[in-house]
Amino acid sequence: MTPAPVPIENQESRIQNPPPRGRGALFLDRDGTLIPDKDYLADPAQVELIPGVADALRRARTLGYALFLFTNQSGIGRGYHTIADTHACNARMLELIGLGPDLFAGTCIAPEAPDQPSLYRKPSPRFILESVAAHGLDPARCWMVGDRESDLAAGAAAGIRSAAVCTGKHDAAGWTGRLPAGVPLFADFPAFVATLA
Ligand SMILES: [Mg+2]
Repeated sequence: MTPAPVPIENQESRIQNPPPRGRGALFLDRDGTLIPDKDYLADPAQVELIPGVADALRRARTLGYALFLFTNQSGIGRGYHTIADTHACNARMLELIGLGPDLFAGTCIAPEAPDQPSLYRKPSPRFILESVAAHGLDPARCWMVGDRESDLAAGAAAGIRSAAVCTGKHDAAGWTGRLPAGVPLFADFPAFVATLA
């Protein structure tokens, strides 16, 4: 007996409804990128936003980028302040941004001092790699944005693009001779977001 023909799949439907592309994401340094870098910030009352950051984050979110906070906080490892202080400062930053407490899809606070064994401290790419895998992100549409060489190196080690800003460790002149090949430099985070499509 001849088996019944197998129905042909609905090719038209499949073409019109491809699986969603992996999302893009921005991995964002905190101090010197979203807020001014005040050494070993521990007091939420000292948190202020770099101008334009809230609007830039809103635009990035509207464009569909998942947002991650990735911050080295060696003051914890050095014993200058606690991780609870950092959580409090992050909460204050989110309050000032005004886009809700769940703005970031993930947050990594790397607490190690430079001389301590570390898992996540930038330039380690571990947080980025784990987040890309966990959220099914498209690495080709991901950026690491920061004000220090270690931020750019973390992005490079994770296989995503990096962008540098002039609102922290280095101004434009200070980046001269420090910027890795192919890494674009922006005046600030809002100027970077303005280039995203
Ligand atoms: Mg920084």
